Amino acid sequence: MVAVENQLQFPGRIGLGTWQLGATSAEYDRDVGAVTHALEIGYRLLDTAEMYGDGGAERVIGNALRTFGTSRRSSLFIVSKIVAENASADGVVRSCEASIQRMGCDYLDLYLLHWPGAIPFVETLRGFATLTQRKLIRNFGVSNFSVDDLQRWFLAEKSLGLRATLQCNQVPYCAEARGFESILQPWQRSHGIRTMAYWPLGRDGHAGLAKHPLLERIGRERDVSAAQIALAWCVREPEIVAIPKSTNHSRLEENLRAGEVHLSRQEIQQIDQAFPIRFRRFRQLLWLHQLRSKVRRMRSGS
Ligand code: NAP
Repeated sequence: MVAVENQLQFPGRIGLGTWQLGATSAEYDRDVGAVTHALEIGYRLLDTAEMYGDGGAERVIGNALRTFGTSRRSSLFIVSKIVAENASADGVVRSCEASIQRMGCDYLDLYLLHWPGAIPFVETLRGFATLTQRKLIRNFGVSNFSVDDLQRWFLAEKSLGLRATLQCNQVPYCAEARGFESILQPWQRSHGIRTMAYWPLGRDGHAGLAKHPLLERIGRERDVSAAQIALAWCVREPEIVAIPKSTNHSRLEENLRAGEVHLSRQEIQQIDQAFPIRFRRFRQLLWLHQLRSKVRRMRSGS
């Protein structure tokens, strides 16, 4: 097997998250309409996962892609994720094929292991290598990995004679959740791993930052919203891309336009001071998120 080089280029600073899309039939048409609108107004990065809506989010994307035009597939950057429990060498291939089929997109630009689980990473790596050889994925990476997890991944790579295979780690990151900056960000930078930020509008996906008084004030001075300031802060470093989710057409436009907002050093300092980094909480945050996802999956029987 040949190691993959780190040449990942995201199309723009803002992509579209799809958590909870396609989860209920009552809102299916609304969700397809939202993704179709997102594509029409210029979103080019779509983030999804086999777990979202139990495949429903990927079906929503598939529907929207048909309207957008499958001939324009190459202009898009589609990311999906495999749950840890499926990430054996064969399971990775089966899950990826199913994701591609649901979206009708021929290949994935980036395929992520959703979180570290019990299946040895060498197994997952073998699956990713098969998918790469079959041209079903262009890049692969991980999500919710701490530095310890990434180091374990590197050991697995080494045992297979590989190095630097990981292109990206998708992690929670926003002004309210800055633990990523303490150890993980410098480590990822030094290893050429790009970052995709989820919860960019506030911790737990509650969009609390969209109503924060300081961000509102900074936004007023620039004639943009607090949400746009939150997103601009999140992607202020070139190696980070954010994937806010919305099904509301005007919020989709608002979020995409945040990619054009570049904060001054002084504005960044004000936000940094208002939201101090809590160093030790990042691992807890990842762990809690994984636990919650597991409970949700057990409850839904998937
Ligand atoms: P988020 O994007 O930070 O927030 C989503 C919430 O914010 C939605 O309720 C949305 O409601 C609202 N919202 C969106 N734009 C807004 C705006 N401009 N002003 C006010 N409210 C706004 O959180 P998230 O969806 O949890 O995370 C983003 C994406 O990251 C997910 O969709 C998913 O693709 C990914 N993700 C990955 C993981 C992982 O483990 N790898 C975990 C969580 C999320 P409306 O739809 O009504 O606008």
